[in-house]
Amino acid sequence: MSKRVIPVADWRDLAPPAVVPVAATSDGVVLDSLQRPLRDLRISVTDRCNFRCSYCMPREVFDSRHQFLPHDALLSFEEITRLARQFALLGVRKLRLTGGEPLLRKHLENLVGQLAELRSVDGQPLDITLTTNGSLLARKAQALRDAGLRRVTVSLDALDDSVFQRMNDVGFPVADVLHGIDAALATGLGPIKVNMVVKRGVNDHQVVPMARHMREHYGPQVTLRFIEFMDVGATNRWQLDEVLPSAELLARLSAHWPLLALPANAPGETAQRWAYADGHGEIGLISSVSQAFCGDCNRARLSTEGKLYLCLFASRGHDLRQLLREGAASDAALGGHIQAIWQGRNDRYSELRSQQSNAAERKIEMHYIGG
Ligand code: SAM
Repeated sequence: MSKRVIPVADWRDLAPPAVVPVAATSDGVVLDSLQRPLRDLRISVTDRCNFRCSYCMPREVFDSRHQFLPHDALLSFEEITRLARQFALLGVRKLRLTGGEPLLRKHLENLVGQLAELRSVDGQPLDITLTTNGSLLARKAQALRDAGLRRVTVSLDALDDSVFQRMNDVGFPVADVLHGIDAALATGLGPIKVNMVVKRGVNDHQVVPMARHMREHYGPQVTLRFIEFMDVGATNRWQLDEVLPSAELLARLSAHWPLLALPANAPGETAQRWAYADGHGEIGLISSVSQAFCGDCNRARLSTEGKLYLCLFASRGHDLRQLLREGAASDAALGGHIQAIWQGRNDRYSELRSQQSNAAERKIEMHYIGG
């Protein structure tokens, strides 16, 4: 590993933490130490990306000298599916494939097909979704849909080409992302969520044009979600003054279109929902910085090489790949291990953001842990 690689701190020993004696919910779902259920598993299928967004994988760090994980370090599709099955038995209902850019992983539709066979504790198919930068979506949408993908979230930070190309730092054009969105909608992968990370002074002047385009072109078929620039990882030079708080963003949008607050679709939902009063669909506000939502966070994250992270802002993960490969653990032992880890969970980074204790350890990079 070169010196430039961001070290992945993970020296926890393999023994599961002592099981905290907490009750499961009535449907058998496991709860963490703050009584939060495990509902949502985000799976990073690759640490590679074909974009170099400054807020995520800045080019000066992730350049040609950066060493990505070798292929045999990645969990295989079979290993991911085996783990996902155990997560489903513990209460997970939703799987999100992410990365890196998940569509760079070859034959991803085969993984989707395997995951589509899994069932939740109450016998329902899992809600399988994907977050992508959209660059390969037009090519892949039909195969993914046929394999069982239900929905897709596409990232797009501006409508203006020069702003977007500066942000993705590979000169990728807006039109190709929009083409991917259209192709995905045509296959039935809608409604689609579009994620826009907003950085003050960089693309905040694109908030209104993006909203206008999405509501006028797509209406309820696309929900535009504005994400506050977050202090994930250790390489994006995050500064609080580059965050556009959702309250300010809402005020800007409301000056153009009256908005009505909507209730959450499900507990633990990341975005606050707002509807256009004229019926042209809705928007979402993801306010991880200005309004932390750790209280009902029900998400776990599986990194590309099989480490389980309990928070997007974690510094350490729990190595499940070693259990899979060297420990030859039974499914029951694997499930028990994951259960014990979840029961010991007390992470609430965003709520504690301003406190000194948060600064002590280097946080994991988002492309590795999955967005
Ligand atoms: N490559 C895929 C994509 O572009 O959607 C999936 C991975 S990406 C890490 C997932 C999401 O995280 C994207 O919507 C991206 O914009 C968002 N993201 C990455 N870094 C972020 C940051 N520092 N603050 C807020 N959102 C961020």
